[in-house]
Amino acid sequence: MQRFSLPALEYHVAHGCNLSCQQCSHYSNFHLAGKLPTVADAESEYSRWSHRLLPARFALLGGEPLLNPAILKHIQLARQHWNDGELMLVTNGFFMHRFPELPQVLVDTECQLEISQHGTHQDYLDRFREVKAIVWSWRKQYPKLRINIRKSHKGWMRQYNIVDGKPMPFKSQPDAAYRVCMQRTCTQLVKGCLAKCPALAYWPRLETKARLESISEWDLFRDYEACPPTASDAELRSFLETKSIPQCVLCPSRRVAFRHPSPLQRSNLQ
Ligand code: SF4
Ligand code: SF4
Repeated sequence: MQRFSLPALEYHVAHGCNLSCQQCSHYSNFHLAGKLPTVADAESEYSRWSHRLLPARFALLGGEPLLNPAILKHIQLARQHWNDGELMLVTNGFFMHRFPELPQVLVDTECQLEISQHGTHQDYLDRFREVKAIVWSWRKQYPKLRINIRKSHKGWMRQYNIVDGKPMPFKSQPDAAYRVCMQRTCTQLVKGCLAKCPALAYWPRLETKARLESISEWDLFRDYEACPPTASDAELRSFLETKSIPQCVLCPSRRVAFRHPSPLQRSNLQ
């Protein structure tokens, strides 16, 4: 069977998070409900696609992936299914100390560990110093471990506005929004289907949590249909090759850097 290439495929192993970054692409700052995917859940979802897709990078993230107690097995399973490309785990780092076996599993599976820094607020930096100390210690103990700290707060943007405390969409030209979109190569494997981006994949959870059901401005996101595993090769190719889609009209068309309050605080939306 033909395997289709794509830059990246992402699987979210948690929906909740211990931090509250207001630009979160998973909307985890809204403290979304949702059970942690089990290894059996992931196996079932990967099996539908791993013989058809060839992602250059497969990434496990969330929400905060280290909130999933089965994360080590998730990494091993991901490597079994997605063994031709790069494997990556993206975390905010706050729970690394809970998994002393994590570095060895990462080395064995050739999985890169990306730790996102989410701000420069003093209370956050005080906590993040502990994360950095673990990074330095693991680097020393595991020379083969690929581990990186990325400054996620630099240049990040938010995909919606806040009006009267509610997330509300933009009104843009879809091509212009797609051009500046930071999620455009972040294909999501969610509920066994492929979604174009996290903004669309997790919007139904946001709709429930933020009570957006009666807001018609969100209809295009509400009506979005992800690519199912029953898609033909022609349909899959079209899904992967299509650039902007009608839903992009609801996203920003200018990249405006977003400075959020300390991610340690559950603050009012700005
Ligand atoms: S650390 Fe921030 S950006 Fe990452 S999942 Fe948690 S809330 Fe979202
Ligand atoms: S709908 Fe389009 S512009 Fe909006 S996040 Fe998804 S890919 Fe980007």
